[in-house]
Amino acid sequence: MAVSVLILGGGVGGLSAAHELVERGFAVTVLEQRDVPGGKARSVEVPGSAQPPMLPLPGEHGFRFFPGFYRHVIDTMARIPAAGGGSVAGHLAAASLEMLARMGKPPIELPPHQPHSLPELRRVLRTLFGADTGLSDDDIGFFALKVWQLMTACPERALHEFENQSWLAFMDAANRSPAFNEYFVDGLTRCLVAARADKANVRAGGVVLTQLFYGMFDHSTPLDRLLDGPTSPVWITPWRTYLESRGVHFEFGRTVAAIECDGRRVTGVAAAAADGSVQQRQADHYVCALPVETTAPLITPALLQADPALAGIGRIAGDVYDMVGIQFYLPDTDVPLVHGHLSLIDSPWALTGISQRQFWPGVDFARLGDGHVGGVLSIDISDWDTPGLCFPGPGGRNLTARQCRPEQVALDVWTQLRRSLVPASGPNPLPAALPRWFIDPGVRFDPTLVANDSRLFVNLVGSWQYRPEAATAVPNLVLASDYVRTNTNLATMEAANEAARRAVNALIARSGVAAAPCAIWPLHTPEVLKPFIEADCLLWKAGLPWRGAVA
Ligand SMILES: Cc1cc2nc3c(=O)[nH]c(=O)nc-3n(C[C@H](O)[C@H](O)[C@H](O)COP(=O)(O)OP(=O)(O)OC[C@H]3O[C@@H](n4cnc5c(N)ncnc54)[C@H](O)[C@@H]3O)c2cc1C
Repeated sequence: MAVSVLILGGGVGGLSAAHELVERGFAVTVLEQRDVPGGKARSVEVPGSAQPPMLPLPGEHGFRFFPGFYRHVIDTMARIPAAGGGSVAGHLAAASLEMLARMGKPPIELPPHQPHSLPELRRVLRTLFGADTGLSDDDIGFFALKVWQLMTACPERALHEFENQSWLAFMDAANRSPAFNEYFVDGLTRCLVAARADKANVRAGGVVLTQLFYGMFDHSTPLDRLLDGPTSPVWITPWRTYLESRGVHFEFGRTVAAIECDGRRVTGVAAAAADGSVQQRQADHYVCALPVETTAPLITPALLQADPALAGIGRIAGDVYDMVGIQFYLPDTDVPLVHGHLSLIDSPWALTGISQRQFWPGVDFARLGDGHVGGVLSIDISDWDTPGLCFPGPGGRNLTARQCRPEQVALDVWTQLRRSLVPASGPNPLPAALPRWFIDPGVRFDPTLVANDSRLFVNLVGSWQYRPEAATAVPNLVLASDYVRTNTNLATMEAANEAARRAVNALIARSGVAAAPCAIWPLHTPEVLKPFIEADCLLWKAGLPWRGAVA
């Protein structure tokens, strides 16, 4: 008889684990509290936005970005059949341009590919670091040195030094110019993830920065990819269909309320249904693919007896932040701002966004909502605690996003967008009137923000020591979520997928099932850097500081 596995949570981590397990002959059941899979990556239809035969407006918790360095989640997508033939990886579309928009200044446009010629390289650098940034040659030289340090430090130094340092300290922010702080300290961390320069650790931020940087010089994969339609229709729903066709059993509306343990092994799980009834569920193995803040309250003394290291989950459960999307439905006419991601680098609320319609050729906009949707502008708000532009608040400071009612959030975001996109001449590309907008109902306002059921884990300074391995010391429990220790090391779909692969590999080894392990890849290190890294390994072993040169 097949070895049975109960997967707790049906986000990217849980679905990835289900995929790897069912293809290896395990009997898989997924318990998911929502009525759909996908977790933070799912699409959310705007309630009441259409009457049949019209289709509901497409919403989401936040837009989806698949940088070129992702391998694990892309490999999984390539193994999910798409409705029209091929795989869902075929639904990844390449962006051709990234834009850093600035208030009152022309945008900086960054082609997401390697410059193909010296003149193009010069143009990119001149555009990026032009005089109107206020960045001096010294600023640019210092930033280049810090990036070089991230690229050439040995892994041990990264783990023991960068992990325990904030981005703010690493960049010597206190002694740098305001422009340096604006672009390279706050701008980089605030717009990449819901991180703060004073709290995020350098190792995690450095991974993304250097991998994105290497991506610019890699011809084989686009730096920036996104889906060619709303996430659930083009990816998550075909995934569920495929998994069900292979025998995965989904139980929706089941909230895991307890993981029971006899002090050695997990003996069962208590799952509550919507009507309040609680069911006991048993399996040979358990994969916990719940978010860190949901997992922490389930760690009981009995589980800690079986694996004392699980106490670390409680230490990092509070390291979750509000990064939340808002979608604007432009009336009648689309405004394709840039053919890729847009980062509003000096916007108070650290906005990033994407004009979706240009990437969604298969979506019949005439059938959406009231039939007058011209385009969908999807914006992520990463900073909920800095005063906005529109609404006066206590103490002479404007209201932060957290202090605003949802309609105020929408209006302030719209204002920040319009001010960041002022063209050199002519009218603002965005209409003055606030269009219809949508925020995931999982973010609750009463009247201001009181709860967010999809908070994002951020790697704070020194948090690696508390983060668990996918393979716990409990013989029949593994972890498969974005906060688990991975090479990816940043809470993303890629990390959730890598964690699931690690979890499944541990489970295979423990179950005794003869199955091939899941592939796990290291992060890319360009050959040209390897001698520098090896030289730094020698310095590290000798107790010496980084020098950035081959010995
Ligand atoms: C606004 C925003 C934008 C983002 N953009 C990107 C991006 O562009 N690219 C990228 O790679 N990553 C992005 N991320 C991060 C990425 O979405 C997450 O890291 C990833 O989806 C996490 O997957 P997961 O399976 O670990 O967790 P989750 O997605 O949180 O899945 C956990 C699942 O468990 C379920 N669950 C929770 N509690 C219970 C319970 N008690 N019982 C049963 N089920 C339960 C949840 O409903 C959910 O389905 C973004 C995140 C946010 C917030």
